[in-house]
Amino acid sequence: MMDRREFISNCLKGACALGLGHILIKESDLFAALDSAGTLVKGNGFGDESSFVHEAMHFTRLGDGLVRCGLCPHGCLVSDGARGKCRVRENRGGTYYTRVFSRVCAMHVDPIEKKPLFHYKPASKSFSIATPGCNFSCSFCQNWQISQSNPESIDCQYVSPDEAVRKAVESGAQSIAYTYSEPTIFYEYMLETARKGNEKGVKSVAITNGFMCEQAQDQLLDQLDAVKIDFKAFSEDFYREVCGGTLEGVKKSIQRIAKKKKWLELVVLIIPTLNDSREEITAMAEWIASEAGYDVPVHFSRFHPQYKLKNLPVTPVATLERCVDICRDKGLRYVYIGNAPGHPAENTYCPGCKEMVIKRYGFYVLSNTVKDGKCPHCGHGIAGIFS
Ligand code: SF4
Repeated sequence: MMDRREFISNCLKGACALGLGHILIKESDLFAALDSAGTLVKGNGFGDESSFVHEAMHFTRLGDGLVRCGLCPHGCLVSDGARGKCRVRENRGGTYYTRVFSRVCAMHVDPIEKKPLFHYKPASKSFSIATPGCNFSCSFCQNWQISQSNPESIDCQYVSPDEAVRKAVESGAQSIAYTYSEPTIFYEYMLETARKGNEKGVKSVAITNGFMCEQAQDQLLDQLDAVKIDFKAFSEDFYREVCGGTLEGVKKSIQRIAKKKKWLELVVLIIPTLNDSREEITAMAEWIASEAGYDVPVHFSRFHPQYKLKNLPVTPVATLERCVDICRDKGLRYVYIGNAPGHPAENTYCPGCKEMVIKRYGFYVLSNTVKDGKCPHCGHGIAGIFS
């Protein structure tokens, strides 16, 4: 049996032997990235509750102590002393507050490919943070321990926006990723950290379900460099029954991001029998092409049974390949398979000459021959942010 270091080492040697081009990550860096990617920075125990409380943005006072939250399309109507659906926003005497400002429950340095963002600064490090909470309740959530809990029941540490930016700079990351749980619900913290990061030259990327209202999203997008949206299905029934959200809210969000020309990538977790029909994937591919554009990368990711969906099997690779074929037939230029390390559909191919220009293994870039955003073989542009 090989351990993961031997395995990666052999991959790198194999890539060199095959003449696959310039190796972007030194072996030592790759192992360092592997180690840091798996390390949860533990908190110092429960912080002082009041230090995490911050007045919320995007709410309306309705009188009689009632407030209406305008952050996400749920539009929670919240009475004095109660919280919204996401569990982290609370009405105190007719004013709305977030309880997760600077309340960090997970902090890692990840390869940007882990988000996954494949066309955004390939092989760069992303300083990744999360607070507890989510505005969805997906039955297949990978991080349900932090996304589906009240914030005060999770071990967290206080990390101010300034401190997060400082740690990101020290780690050598080129970006800060708001990820693992749902960053919409820690909006004020994300916005402030992104602003501070931009002042120090560290960009921000949001890894999100895309369920956010227009006004809040517009304000946030001004501070972001890229967005990855989990496009969970192309069916209102799926969004309502499996996720506790709406497809319409997410579609509007994707349209707005595309209109603003922010770098966007989409991930679709394909769950056997629930969202994998040919008809649904065809309709989704057509909609993406017409509303977000042919250059938006789409990642079809492999489901593994977990949380409340342990009764379903792992997604067959053939199903993912069928999804890729459907999208390519509809003209989408960059379509990937995720959670199947070693599959050829992890690599980027030039839309012009079809030559491979970025070779990956899982979260790691083994070679990248894109030069000045162009294919080295035919000069065709490769969409993305490569500098
Ligand atoms: S952000 Fe939270 S409180 Fe606000 S509308 Fe969405 S679920 Fe409700």
